[in-house]
Amino acid sequence: MTKNLIELKNISKTFLSGEKKINLFNNVNLKIKKGDLIALVGPSGSGKSTFLHMLALLEEPNKGRIYLSKSDTGKMSESEKDKARREKISIIFQNNNLLNDFTALENVLMPLYIKGHINQKTKDKGIKILTDVKLNKRVNHFPSELSGGEQQRVAIARSIISDTNLILADEPTGNLDRKTSKNVFNYFKYLQKKDKAILFATHNRELANMADYKLSIFNSKLLRSNGKK
Ligand code: ADP
Ligand code: MG
Repeated sequence: MTKNLIELKNISKTFLSGEKKINLFNNVNLKIKKGDLIALVGPSGSGKSTFLHMLALLEEPNKGRIYLSKSDTGKMSESEKDKARREKISIIFQNNNLLNDFTALENVLMPLYIKGHINQKTKDKGIKILTDVKLNKRVNHFPSELSGGEQQRVAIARSIISDTNLILADEPTGNLDRKTSKNVFNYFKYLQKKDKAILFATHNRELANMADYKLSIFNSKLLRSNGKK
């Protein structure tokens, strides 16, 4: 049985910028299932971040419905959305959003602090995940003491700690060199094997072509083309 983690039905999104209407999406449909690894591509300003923010329930579409495991998110209150997001969705923001006054480990554990789940076991889990992204020697460093690539990996580790099934990543390899980008992608492959679904926005063609499939934003639609399959 295939089960959709999230489903978008007839989504339209426009922004008003002064008098001007920016029509980003028009009647877009998408289903994301467990174990999907999907690349989202499109030129700068085409709406990649906006699309991820809608999937993360941080931005509402003007038209259409977003179903999160069958629940219509348009009918949820803000606190229900907060809860759904905490339990089901992780997002790695384009500008990584690390908290400067907290160490790498504290940043990674932040989603669990918010839930009130901090104990030795969760701390060990944080260290294990930082080790997975090859940051075991940077656990107690502050963001200002880390390189751009290291900061990005802390953000990835933070998105993984709460064990959500859906991971959204906004240009996660944007400021990484080729080798580190490949490592990040390999980590996504590893998460895919654990049945997580990952949608990542990218300008990196090499990585986009290694996803299960590619979604390209074109004329306010999402065009699907095959990656590796
Ligand atoms: P991308 O991530 O592909 O670069 P974005 O989703 O950030 O694109 O932005 C798409 C377009 O929507 C841009 O032209 C941007 O200026 C515009 N935009 C984004 N957020 C807002 C907003 N809150 N209000 C008005 N315009 C916005
Ligand atoms: Mg963006």
